[in-house]
Amino acid sequence: MRTLVITGAGVSAESGIPTFRGKDGYWRNLDPAKLATPEAFANDPKLVWEWYRERRERIRNAQPNPAHQAIVKLAAHADEFLLVTQNVDDLHLRAESEGQRLSREKIVQIHGDIFEARCSRCDWSRQEQEEEEEEGNVPQCPECGELMRPGVVWFGEQLDPRKIGRVENYLARGLCDVVIVAGTTAAFGYIIDWALRARDQDGQLIEVNPDPTPLSGFATHLIREPAGRALPQLVDELLAT
Ligand code: NAD
Ligand code: ZN
Repeated sequence: MRTLVITGAGVSAESGIPTFRGKDGYWRNLDPAKLATPEAFANDPKLVWEWYRERRERIRNAQPNPAHQAIVKLAAHADEFLLVTQNVDDLHLRAESEGQRLSREKIVQIHGDIFEARCSRCDWSRQEQEEEEEEGNVPQCPECGELMRPGVVWFGEQLDPRKIGRVENYLARGLCDVVIVAGTTAAFGYIIDWALRARDQDGQLIEVNPDPTPLSGFATHLIREPAGRALPQLVDELLAT
């Protein structure tokens, strides 16, 4: 079985991480769709860092849920597997199933990693531990002195070409028997494009989302349930056949 799994914020919702577009997405009455932009950072880098530090804290205190665990189980038993996640949290990496975790080669964090900080000018970047966080500060690049920013892709920014390359390579090596798209509004064209191109003619395209999305009309199976309930059952069914 060759599989592609694509996830979005909905998969982490049951771990207590708010989605962007959901009712809990707002922060101090500010719209995340406006905060997660280069313009917001240019206007008020301190405010944007405060928002990211609060989100990091929340993610550190959160635990992977059965949806994350089911994906690890699928990866362990599928012949070929890739996870493309829009989530910047580390819950896919921390999730375990049968004592195993997903290896980094099997995950593409297409929108980056919230625990990374990188220079807004040069190539310098680092992973930040809790103890290194400087409250109320905007970190500066030790190489060039420019402001550091969270290592994520903001609205209106380009994806990392190396990450696109990893997804394209996986697609080029063969079509998938099973494509699962879970917990995403599928608002970005590339997400829809990858999901549709990955599926073999006889393969399944399974959407897991309580609400309809632009992909719903193309899905061979729709599961209108929370991911934490739907994915463990789905993975067991797929592995039983
Ligand atoms: P989104 O917030 O736009 O949409 C969330 C989707 O999940 C919706 O379609 C909703 O119906 C669905 N959903 C809600 N609860 C669910 C559940 N329990 N099970 C299954 N589905 C559920 O998220 P998105 O499509 O990922 O796009 C938003 C962008 O914001 C992403 O690019 C991502 O980078 C970023 N983001 C990341 C995180 C995170 O890392 N956890 C959180 C919020 C936003
Ligand atoms: Zn720099």
